[in-house]
Amino acid sequence: ETAVKQEILEKARRLGVKFVRLQFTDILGVLKNVAIPVEQLDKALDGELMFDGSSIHGFARIEESDMYLRPDPNTFVIFPWRPRDGAVARLICDVYNPDGTPFAGCPRNCLRRMLDRAKSMGYTMHAGPEMEFFLFHVDADGKPLLETHDKAGYFDLSPIDKGENARREMVMALEEMGFEIETSHHEVAPGQHEIDFKHSDALDIADKIVTFKFVVRTLAQRHGLHATFMPKPVFGINGSGMHMNQSLFRGEENAFHDASRPDGLSAEAYYYIGGLLKHARSMAAITNSTVNSYKRLVPGYEAPVYVAWAEGNRSALIRIPQKRGLSTRVELRNPDPACNPYLALTVNLAAGLEGIREKIDPPPRFPINIYHITDADRMERGITSLPASLEEAIKEMSADPVMREALGEHIYTKFIEAKTAEWNEYRIRITPWEIDRYLVNY
Ligand code: ADP
Ligand code: MG
Ligand code: MG
Ligand code: MG
Ligand code: MG
Repeated sequence: ETAVKQEILEKARRLGVKFVRLQFTDILGVLKNVAIPVEQLDKALDGELMFDGSSIHGFARIEESDMYLRPDPNTFVIFPWRPRDGAVARLICDVYNPDGTPFAGCPRNCLRRMLDRAKSMGYTMHAGPEMEFFLFHVDADGKPLLETHDKAGYFDLSPIDKGENARREMVMALEEMGFEIETSHHEVAPGQHEIDFKHSDALDIADKIVTFKFVVRTLAQRHGLHATFMPKPVFGINGSGMHMNQSLFRGEENAFHDASRPDGLSAEAYYYIGGLLKHARSMAAITNSTVNSYKRLVPGYEAPVYVAWAEGNRSALIRIPQKRGLSTRVELRNPDPACNPYLALTVNLAAGLEGIREKIDPPPRFPINIYHITDADRMERGITSLPASLEEAIKEMSADPVMREALGEHIYTKFIEAKTAEWNEYRIRITPWEIDRYLVNY
């Protein structure tokens, strides 16, 4: 422990670090920063830095607002876009109570708890997200517009795509920060991009997702663009998802792979799928956590709508990519990049582990494009839909004790409270669509 600490202090000295940002995430998935001068790093690494938790969403009541940040030394990185002299580094932290116990409202602690449960069953969770986002232009005042000048489509290499340069720099910065980028390409919609990085253990991936969003936004800004992870910014074109590829490892082996079975999928993989499908509706408030998320989950734009699984079919909620061996995985396709990745991975894993423990068999695979079957046919096969709104998602979550147990009382209650308020704020607004439709007609 002290060796790791000395190593970081030495590194900070050698690399001329002047400021360190201590980062943590609130319940809603928003990244928070406390910047300290490097002289405080020693103290910070001992977990002795206090902050006022009452100002952070869902963190504390006013009267018990002192919280302590415990940096995870594995997360020390330097921001590569900052000047070399006077460098800025960051550390991701766990939040602790003054009495030294982990704070129940810390999403990172919450994921750790679920990972420990997986460990007690012999598993490590691996996750690999596919990050989609839009790059929009900004006006003279720097205010984001819904405009992109590119006419590019999927995999296009168009010279008119100004986002291309920005994306290249994002990839380079991420690589310098320890990401192993697997692919980076233009997505289906104009101005839409995807960057994928290599799967690793779930805590590392959740940290990487929050870091990713922060790096992409920062570098877009430096190119005079605005990056957004809003799930569906423009009606009529694809929204941005964050497919969550996931698997369980037992030591060095992928527990989802079983070479002795014709489809190469183990019994555990089947049960995990069974658990995910069983809880898909009640997890939606976490994986699709905004009002806007439900405008992405509609037929026709490669986003899932129905609770089903399939091997190649991209209209299903769960797809099993063809690769086997170490790459055997379940691809959950509804999460979007606005979600809190710590909580999303927590509930996914909780659902999957419940599937394994309770031996939940998934329904048969669904081989044809589900967008194309009739509602009657779908009902006959017992295929349900994902919630159609944040309101419906909150109701589902409120009724699922597995979600309550996975998130813990504190996060569960605060999350439902915050999202109910968000929904209530939205539902009283009058939208342009209503004006178009009703102002003249009635
Ligand atoms: P798609 O075919 O859906 O576009 P991508 O190639 O864009 O998929 O992304 C695949 C993701 O799955 C990558 O992040 C990759 O690292 C990840 N992945 C590969 N193997 C595993 C595994 N065993 N467990 C979890 N994720 C994995
Ligand atoms: Mg992809
Ligand atoms: Mg791909
Ligand atoms: Mg994609
Ligand atoms: Mg995918």
